[in-house]
Amino acid sequence: MTKDPVCGMQVDENKAAATSSHQGKKYSFCGQDCKNKFDQQPQRYAESTQQGSSQQGSQQKDKQQQPQHEHSNR
Ligand SMILES: [Zn+2]
Repeated sequence: MTKDPVCGMQVDENKAAATSSHQGKKYSFCGQDCKNKFDQQPQRYAESTQQGSSQQGSQQKDKQQQPQHEHSNR
């Protein structure tokens, strides 16, 4: 088993829906969508897995990519 660097899912290398390689290392993905994201920014995802084991618990990374300018009325 290995980890999908994009979404963090556990992926069986032998059953991976998609695979890619970056700097000599092989990555497996749960689906084409994750592979596409990885191929667009391989460094970003590759780095995050190398350091990631101690950073579990922050699952709100997706919100960083939405530049919404909503002013909240407080
Ligand atoms: Zn995935």
